[in-house]
Amino acid sequence: MTIVLPTTPAAWAIKLSQLLQHIQATTNESIYPIKIQDLACDISKHFFPSDPLVRVCGDTFSTEFDGMMVKKNGQWGIVYNDAITSRGRINFTLAHEFGHYLLHRADLENGIQCGRNEMMKWKSEQRNIEAEANEFASHLLMPINIFREKVNGETLDLNLFQNIAEYFDVSLTAALLKWISFTSKRAMIVVAKDGFVKWAKPSDAAFNSGIYLAYKKNLIELPAQSLAARRDTFFDNMAGTDHATGIWPFREGVREATLLADTYDMTISLLLFNDVAPVRYFGEEMPEEDTFDRFQRMAING
Ligand SMILES: [Zn+2]
Repeated sequence: MTIVLPTTPAAWAIKLSQLLQHIQATTNESIYPIKIQDLACDISKHFFPSDPLVRVCGDTFSTEFDGMMVKKNGQWGIVYNDAITSRGRINFTLAHEFGHYLLHRADLENGIQCGRNEMMKWKSEQRNIEAEANEFASHLLMPINIFREKVNGETLDLNLFQNIAEYFDVSLTAALLKWISFTSKRAMIVVAKDGFVKWAKPSDAAFNSGIYLAYKKNLIELPAQSLAARRDTFFDNMAGTDHATGIWPFREGVREATLLADTYDMTISLLLFNDVAPVRYFGEEMPEEDTFDRFQRMAING
């Protein structure tokens, strides 16, 4: 009997999740967080014994990249950069590289190196192996049905998403991007550095009701009264606060929760809007792309 193997990122993630859930049923222990470092070589041995992945580890490099897949003497290895200090980012990087192994290794005889830009690619018009590796990692590490269970009935603030990120062993940004991709809530993630928005990503519901950040001369300054700009360390920024209309540049009030990162003056903000959007003006135009798409386009183009 020929075993039919998955060919898409989502199908591989589902196949592996089913395998792991089968193990969970016998051991009664949660399979989450999925530890790629412990799992990848076993999966390879099971499915591809003649083209094996034999090593998953960290190493020190002078060049700037997050992870890579290499081939030596007919055997594959996955290596992450020791310079990454976030455990969640390491796990996502390893899942990304493992996605390359499962889906793309036939085209990558010379291996591949992936950096921060590659980890942020989520869609493109053509088949893009970086977007596929991310899709695989996201599906495998954070299945939507389990993510939904964690969110249901809970207060939507950054304490919740921080806990969920720890549960799945991914970065807060990865967990927020996952949620924003499937939630029916009107919400937006805003990541800023040195007081300027690096990228922003609205949920579909938010975008469809006119929530986006428009570029002005390529830079958007954080609103002065936002938690992200105020950086008040005595305030419970993770729990957040309600802002009146006009604090953020939208035609409605917004709830903001913000993580003030220790390094680089980075902030990660979750903006939550009322479930019911204000009535739109007749003839109001929709933007052609939001800043996240633009950021991706820039990342893809160089
Ligand atoms: Zn990659």
